[in-house]
Amino acid sequence: MPSDMIRQSEYGIFINNQYHSSAKNFAVTNPATGETLTEVPDAGASDTLAAIDAAAAALPAWSATPAIERAAMLRKAAALMLERRERLATIMTLEQGKPLTESRGEIAYAASFFSWFAGEAERVYGQIVPAAAPNKRILVMRQPVGVCALITPWNFPSAMLTRKIAPALAAGCTVICKPAEQTPLSALELGRIFIDAGIPAGVVNILPALDPIPFSETIFADDRVRKVSFTGSTEVGRILIRSSAQTVKRISLELGGNAPFIVFDDADLDAAVKGAVASKFRNSGQTCICANRIFVQSAVYDAFAEKFTAAVANLKVGSGLESDTMIGPLIDHPALEKVTRHVQDAVSKGAQIMTGGAPLPAQFNPTGTFWTPTVLLNVSPHMLVTQEETFGPVAPLIRFETEDEVLALANDTPFGLSAYFYSQNVSRVMRVAEKLEFGIIGANDALPSTANAPFGGVKQSGLGREGGAFGIDEYLEVKYVSMGV
Ligand code: ADP
Repeated sequence: MPSDMIRQSEYGIFINNQYHSSAKNFAVTNPATGETLTEVPDAGASDTLAAIDAAAAALPAWSATPAIERAAMLRKAAALMLERRERLATIMTLEQGKPLTESRGEIAYAASFFSWFAGEAERVYGQIVPAAAPNKRILVMRQPVGVCALITPWNFPSAMLTRKIAPALAAGCTVICKPAEQTPLSALELGRIFIDAGIPAGVVNILPALDPIPFSETIFADDRVRKVSFTGSTEVGRILIRSSAQTVKRISLELGGNAPFIVFDDADLDAAVKGAVASKFRNSGQTCICANRIFVQSAVYDAFAEKFTAAVANLKVGSGLESDTMIGPLIDHPALEKVTRHVQDAVSKGAQIMTGGAPLPAQFNPTGTFWTPTVLLNVSPHMLVTQEETFGPVAPLIRFETEDEVLALANDTPFGLSAYFYSQNVSRVMRVAEKLEFGIIGANDALPSTANAPFGGVKQSGLGREGGAFGIDEYLEVKYVSMGV
């Protein structure tokens, strides 16, 4: 049984390269069956303090370790993740629900942050700036921020964490991490990887917790924590901005999106259909960069709707452990309620269901949270499904006439994470890419995420960038020395 590998493993609060127990535990459940997979200790304020102590104690030696040595450990961590990919992917599917093929993909993606930032660690250069006076020299150096607290969501339990841990360690910082309460196992599995990669005790600490507040209050009150990096909802992001004022911490936020996906009449229609399916339905539509509003130009609207509906109707829904499953369960019942509310609202305002539109029939739906992939036709901008992130397998199609009209509609949102469009006209590609007010643009590309590029949003989608050469800057302070000679 795949779940045996969880029962036979030790999952404790990971501090100083050891797993610890706690007075209280909480259950981790399989969203595809509702069964309890295991229990993990529930970290509270005193555990958080112990983790900060460990990270602060490890900081001087870790930041002084030559970058080339830190890089070697990060490369080893990447290699170990790939070596243990099958185990890590199975655990991810068990606690998160996504199909095993997607979990395998996420493990490779998660590992790639270690390889990428190993390279960046070796290239943290300073500058010598021409001084204004002949008897002065100015040296600029970049140094690690210090102890960082990292808070991550459940939709990418491994990659969201390594996207933060890898640049932090590359920069010479030490970290305390709080994974989402739904998916602590993927995070805790990384502890064994860090030990085996030779990363010293205290450099990475991982705290599973059912309630994020004791963790949050402890890190924000503590002056030793110099930075917080968070991926999650805009609502919680706002709370963290306010909390960071207390001890003036640096803060990076990757928050919600409301991605437009635009199909122009000069698009390669088959490529656009394939891209829309990949963008919308990956992880059952539970990604912050997935297409949330699909705009299709009038001349190709009917043809696109027909091809897209046929492709969506073919997506197999089921347990992520079955090899042909493409759509797993939603994470929980609140997620199901949001999807239901969005579909009902759209239908009540005139949208037409082309396929799906309801949960799977009860005999195939042990938890009630399996939703049939849905295409909605004749959607208009006043419906909830276009205004809020649905975070589920529901694709609303909106008709538009002109480029100016669709750009205004696409930008008419407080969010600015990712946007996609399909067009074969090179002038239009450049023009539209420049005018879309989003941090990530997929131009004839529905899957833009990669460790090599600076991921992040504008407007209410966040602050800062993760990945690429920019990603390490979030964990470095700039200092200059003005030297009299
Ligand atoms: P989602 O809607 O994806 O669950 P959340 O923003 O609620 O997104 O959660 C993302 C992460 O933030 C999780 O690890 C969660 O425990 C944590 N979290 C939620 N509320 C707070 C808070 N007030 N302070 C710190 N972390 C929080």
